[in-house]
Amino acid sequence: MSKLFSNYKRADIEFVKAQGNELIDSQGKHYLDFSTGIGVTNLGFHPQVKAALEKQVQEIWHTPNLYQNSLQEEVAKKLIGDYDYLAFFCNSGAEANEAAIKIARKASGKQGIITFENSFHGRTFGSMSATGQDKIKTGFGDAVPHFSYAKFNDLNSVKALVNEDTAAVMLEMVQGESGVLPADQTFVQELASFCQDKGLYLIVDEVQTGMGRTGTLFSFEHYGIIPDIVTLAKGLANGVPVGAMLAKSSLSPAFSYGSHGSTFGGNKLAMSASSAVLDLMRAPGFLDQAWENGNYLQDQLKKALGANPKVSDIRGLGYMIGIQTTENLADLVQAARDEGLIVLTAGTNVIRLLPPLTLSKEEIDQGVAILAEIFR
Ligand SMILES: *Cc1c(COP(=O)(O)O)cnc(C)c1O
Repeated sequence: MSKLFSNYKRADIEFVKAQGNELIDSQGKHYLDFSTGIGVTNLGFHPQVKAALEKQVQEIWHTPNLYQNSLQEEVAKKLIGDYDYLAFFCNSGAEANEAAIKIARKASGKQGIITFENSFHGRTFGSMSATGQDKIKTGFGDAVPHFSYAKFNDLNSVKALVNEDTAAVMLEMVQGESGVLPADQTFVQELASFCQDKGLYLIVDEVQTGMGRTGTLFSFEHYGIIPDIVTLAKGLANGVPVGAMLAKSSLSPAFSYGSHGSTFGGNKLAMSASSAVLDLMRAPGFLDQAWENGNYLQDQLKKALGANPKVSDIRGLGYMIGIQTTENLADLVQAARDEGLIVLTAGTNVIRLLPPLTLSKEEIDQGVAILAEIFR
């Protein structure tokens, strides 16, 4: 009998090795990975990330945040680029969102945070309370107060919730967990200018959409806006636990000495991986190629499945793709696995693809052929 809680439903296979964009199970079977461990190993099991980790392990893998950490400085610089942000490093998406909620409240002196129905922001009390899905909260008692939930892509529903205690509006550019639902361009732009007019902080949760997932380093770059606060995690260190909260430098007084912290956050091991990830992603042409290939994958899926009666919609942004279906998801995931392809699900009846940004055209075609086969 397992000594683990049954809070996960685990498939009866174990991956024991990986090579590039392939996973290998304990029976030696190879799989093409269109899941990246839920949007984490965005570069596949990349040799440059591996080399950076190996090198760091030889030197020192952890120091506390009581001492200088030039790797954190380096990663912050590479991450922030030309934006006017400062960075705080933690260990997960939920923690990054906690930091975002805390800094927004403290900097504004207000408590209200407006998020969206069907959003997902994490499992800790603050991030769970921010999440607009009852099933995530059931049984855990009172949520953190002062969160309210607007309708996604509906600015009037945001306006209706704003009051004198509203500190911030928080959203995903593409709702991931609830079914790969992209925000509308005009909605996001109008929301950003509304927030600016009203003096509300705009928080964008890029935990899933960030780190090249949508073909740009941050997905907000597709929308022509600059959020006040941005959170990252999943792909940030390609599989080593890390999270980050970026906020405009004008918010820095709210996170002064002693106000917030993390024991492990941004340690040397995580930062060494992150630094390698950013070198690869910031290399000229890399993200353009990811954007192009993500669109190629979407196009090929539309060609292969668009007319299939079991598929009602194929949507997404870059390499973040949802296939809306009427079929049983568990059966489809199993069928794909039998054919050597690992996929994810989301929301109700959505097959979610979060492939590595490093897929070759041949690997894309291979994956599409398997998906066409299982939907036949
Ligand atoms: C995964 C996810 C989180 C939570 O991240 P954890 O690292 O599991 O805490 C938060 N927000 C979004 C949008 C996510 O996809």
